[in-house]
Amino acid sequence: MDKNANHYDYFVIGAGSGGVRSARIAAQYGAKVGVAENSKLGGTCVNLGCVPKKLLAYGADYGAHFEDAKGYGWDVGTRPAFNWGALIKNKNTEIDRLNGIYKNLLDNAGVDIVTGTAQFIDKNSIDVDGQVITADKFLIAVGGRPRRKNIEGGDLMATSDDVFFWPSMPKHVVIEGGGYIGVEFAHIFHGLGAKVTLIHRGDLLLRGFDDTIRHALVEEMVKQGIDIRFKCEVEKVEQSDDAYVVHLDNGDCISCDLPMSAIGRIPNTEQLSLDNAGVEIEKGYITVNEQYETSTPHIFAIGDVTSTPQLTPVAIREGHVLADRLYGQKPKSSVNYNFIATAVFSQPPIGAVGMTEHEVLDKGHEIMRYVSNFKPMKHTLTGRDERSVMKLIVDFKTERVLGLHMMGLDAPEIVQGFAVAMNMGATKADFDRTMAMHPTSAEEFVTMRSGEHIKPKAQ
Ligand code: NDP
Repeated sequence: MDKNANHYDYFVIGAGSGGVRSARIAAQYGAKVGVAENSKLGGTCVNLGCVPKKLLAYGADYGAHFEDAKGYGWDVGTRPAFNWGALIKNKNTEIDRLNGIYKNLLDNAGVDIVTGTAQFIDKNSIDVDGQVITADKFLIAVGGRPRRKNIEGGDLMATSDDVFFWPSMPKHVVIEGGGYIGVEFAHIFHGLGAKVTLIHRGDLLLRGFDDTIRHALVEEMVKQGIDIRFKCEVEKVEQSDDAYVVHLDNGDCISCDLPMSAIGRIPNTEQLSLDNAGVEIEKGYITVNEQYETSTPHIFAIGDVTSTPQLTPVAIREGHVLADRLYGQKPKSSVNYNFIATAVFSQPPIGAVGMTEHEVLDKGHEIMRYVSNFKPMKHTLTGRDERSVMKLIVDFKTERVLGLHMMGLDAPEIVQGFAVAMNMGATKADFDRTMAMHPTSAEEFVTMRSGEHIKPKAQ
C-alpha cells in the first residue's frame, strides 16, 4: 500500500457549502485533497437549513395562495387538506438528490471523502474515526448548530434540526427567538395551518434589520393571527401525556404540541480537539486573520465556525478564495464583504442590502430617507390586507444609496439585483434615471421622489 495514501496537500474538515467548494477548487488546481464529514454531504444549508427551509416556506405559501385565489375567480372550496408527511417525504427526496450531486462534485474533482468525525492529534495530523490522516494544510469548515437554552426542560424544545423531520403536523407551535429562524418557522407553521405563538425577549423582531421593516413585519404577522409575545422568555418546559407546557418568565403558561427553540447558533468546535493543534478560539469561534489563517498558520478556517456573517454564500466565497490563493497562485483573490444582501423568508418576505437608518445616522451621515408603503397590486383583487414597504437611505452629500430595504411580495428576488448596483456605488440620481418596469413592485425603488432630510442627532 502507498505509505502516502493518507497524506494530503489539503485536507478539509466539514463537507458543507464552504468546505466542499474549497476542496473542489483546490483539487481542480491539482492538489491532492480529502474531506471528512460525519453526517450528510452539503452541511447545514442543504440538509438542515436554507434548502429544506425554503421548500417548507414554499409549501406554507400555498395556505395564502388558496385563500387569495377566490378574488381571481378560482373556486377552491374550503381550505384544501394538507398532508405534512407528503411534504416532508418530498423534501427528503430532494435533499437526497442534492446529497448525490455534492458527492458527484467531489468525486469528479478527485477529492477523497472520508466518513467520520475529525479530531486533531497534533498540528499535522488528525484522527477520523480511527483513521490517521496527515496534511500539509488543513481547512476547518465544520459550521455550527442550534444553541440550546440551559433551563429546566430545555432539551424538550425542538430546534430547527428536529422540526425538519417532525413526525406529524403540529396543531400549536410555541417558538422562542425573534431572529431569522424564529420568524421563518413562524411563517412556515402558520402557513401550513398551525396556531403559532412567538416568544421574543426584545420588543421588536429581527434585530439588525431596519426598524421600518421590523415594525411593518410585526404588523403583518399580527394581522395574520400569529400570537407574538414580546419582552418575555421561556423559563421552563414540562411534558405531560399529550402536550408540552411552556412556562414564561412573566408567569404565562402555554400548552402546545411543539415547543421550538430558535435562539441562535453556536460553532461546532468542541469535537475537534483544537488545543492539540494550537488553534485558538474566541467566544467559541475560531480566530482567523484576513488570509483565513488560524493561530496555527497552515490550519485555516472559514464559514460559520468563524465570526464571519453566517450565510451560505459567504462561506462558499471564502472557501473558493482560499483555494484560489493557496493553489491557484492568486494571492490577491479576496472576498467582498460589502453590501451583502440578505433575506428573511417570512410572509411577506424581507430583502435588505446595506445599512439600516440607525447604522447610517450612528456613523454621522446626514441622509435623505425615502419610504413607500402600499398595497401590492395582486391584493387589490384578493382583498388581503397586506402591505409592501420599501425604503431607501441616501447619503445627503454624496447621494450614494447606503441602504435599501423591502418587506413585500418577492422582496428577496428584487433586492439581489439592487445589491449589484449598490456594490457599484449607485447614487439616487442613478436610480432616478433608470426607467421603471411597469407594473411591478420593484419599480417603486426607481420612482421614489419625495424624501425626508434627516441629520444625525449629534449635529
Ligand atoms: P439569530 O441570531 O438571527 O436570532 C436569535 C434570536 O434569539 C434573537 O431574537 C435573539 O434575541 C434571541 N435570543 C438569543 N439568545 C436568547 C436567549 N438566551 N433567550 C431568549 N432569546 C434569545 O439566530 P437564528 O437562530 O434565528 O439564526 C442563526 C443564524 O443563521 C442567523 O443569524 C443567520 O445568519 C443564519 N440564518 C440565515 C437565514 C437566511 O439567510 N434567510 C435563515 C436562517 C438562519 P436578541 O435579538 O435580543 O438578541
